Amino acid sequence: MREPRPRVLVVGGGFAGFHALRRLERKLAPDAAELVLVNPTDYLLYSPLLPDVAAGMVEPRHIAVSLRQELPRTRMLLGHVTAVDLSRRTVSVGLFDDRGQPGGTQTEPWDRLVLTPGSVTRQFDIPGLAEHAHGVKTLTEALYLRDHLLTQLDRADALPDTPADEPNRPERLTVVAVGAGYTGTEIVAQLRYWLHGIAARWSRIRPTDVRWLLIDISDTVIPELGPELGNVAMDVLRRRGIEVRLGVTVKTAAEQQVTLTDGTVVPTRTLIWGAGVSASPLVDTLGLPLAKGRLVVDEQLRVPGVERVWAAGDAAAVPDLTKPVGGDGSGRSDGRPVTPPTAQHAQRQGAALARNVAASLGVGRARPYRHRDLGMVADLGGSDAVARPLGVSVTGVLAKAITRGYHLSALPRGANKVRVAADWLFAATLPAQAVQLSEIRPRDALISTAQQSVLPPPEG
Ligand SMILES: Cc1cc2nc3c(=O)[nH]c(=O)nc-3n(C[C@H](O)[C@H](O)[C@H](O)COP(=O)(O)OP(=O)(O)OC[C@H]3O[C@@H](n4cnc5c(N)ncnc54)[C@H](O)[C@@H]3O)c2cc1C
Repeated sequence: MREPRPRVLVVGGGFAGFHALRRLERKLAPDAAELVLVNPTDYLLYSPLLPDVAAGMVEPRHIAVSLRQELPRTRMLLGHVTAVDLSRRTVSVGLFDDRGQPGGTQTEPWDRLVLTPGSVTRQFDIPGLAEHAHGVKTLTEALYLRDHLLTQLDRADALPDTPADEPNRPERLTVVAVGAGYTGTEIVAQLRYWLHGIAARWSRIRPTDVRWLLIDISDTVIPELGPELGNVAMDVLRRRGIEVRLGVTVKTAAEQQVTLTDGTVVPTRTLIWGAGVSASPLVDTLGLPLAKGRLVVDEQLRVPGVERVWAAGDAAAVPDLTKPVGGDGSGRSDGRPVTPPTAQHAQRQGAALARNVAASLGVGRARPYRHRDLGMVADLGGSDAVARPLGVSVTGVLAKAITRGYHLSALPRGANKVRVAADWLFAATLPAQAVQLSEIRPRDALISTAQQSVLPPPEG
């Protein structure tokens, strides 16, 4: 009888989990280990291009990379890990039924466990936020946002032309985005660019009737790119008529308005929430040391104190070996700074982690994770972008070319790269599309549902 193979189970098929499995498939002979992935979808989502999907530049399927095609040797289970038993070496997997609803739990054993469940949109205890804010982290949310904005234009346009109805227009035609980091800034800049170009197609709306607000409690825009490029981004936003309100945030949110912390009441039915991320709620259930909510790992991406468990990506507090100890308030007890939650790091950590898992199975040698940040890019729509490759500040058309080149190189699959490049070509040469498919129900697009940001209670 064939000897059972050690089972490597990966939780989460995003950047870190996907690249870990891709490397393990290459490094390990088929009889060296059984590879299992638990992920709620059968694709890796290339989330940096979600703003392009929301703005209709790129088709949603083109940023979804088929895990079955790219990981032929991995057994995939479509579901959510709801609990991890570190002593029995099992995980509980919540499965879906045919209607996509929770459909029972399955227990899966492991000999090596890789935790890469990523992050969820960071929410705060702000009244009304859970019911009325929309994140930009999943395809569901990006598609909903696009249809929702078109619906608002339809409804504003359909309002009777009477003085009694006039006050209802602003709430339909105002978009509030919270979070001036790269996610919030990219989404508001790209949506504004797209909607401004098509708003004249409605008979009674002028493009300038749509009001855009970007707000953040901090005092800079895109701090990830430094003050110089932050100022350039600010100029682009202001030139487009986007009101940037810094030093304030949302105090309460309701269906037809938000109230800011400075007392301003903004009538709106569109609240986009891009105020950072927090680690997947799964890591909080493990009873292991966390640093600012992320799972503490050592420089080889092992989880200290438990055998044969590794973690990486947004869910893990990975020490940044390229920076001096102390100073960045990482929350780690050893004072080591941690790597930021970016795809750039998650992808490389996944590959590094695979090397170390393979070493634990007797193939190759383990090594610490070390990667010097290559810089960030931000696409602001049209021909505007800001980028900082290798510490050099670049703006305008050149930054746009760098941004797109970076995304095409980072997208894991050749066919996806070609499709995305073709989408960009069509977007640049054909009139923008503005049809609504209205496939997503509003409640499915809430952060808690779309991102499963609250784990179901354990069964039994
Ligand atoms: C709009 C946007 C723009 C961005 N732009 C950039 C950029 O330009 N450059 C950059 O470097 N980074 C960017 N990022 C950040 C980048 O996408 C993340 O840092 C990266 O995805 C993290 O990789 P990960 O593998 O840790 O998590 P993810 O890629 O999020 O993957 C986690 C996976 O685990 C799954 N999962 C979660 N919980 C469970 C569970 N309990 N059981 C099973 N599976 C689970 C999730 O469904 C997902 O498939 C952007 C993010 C967003 C949202």
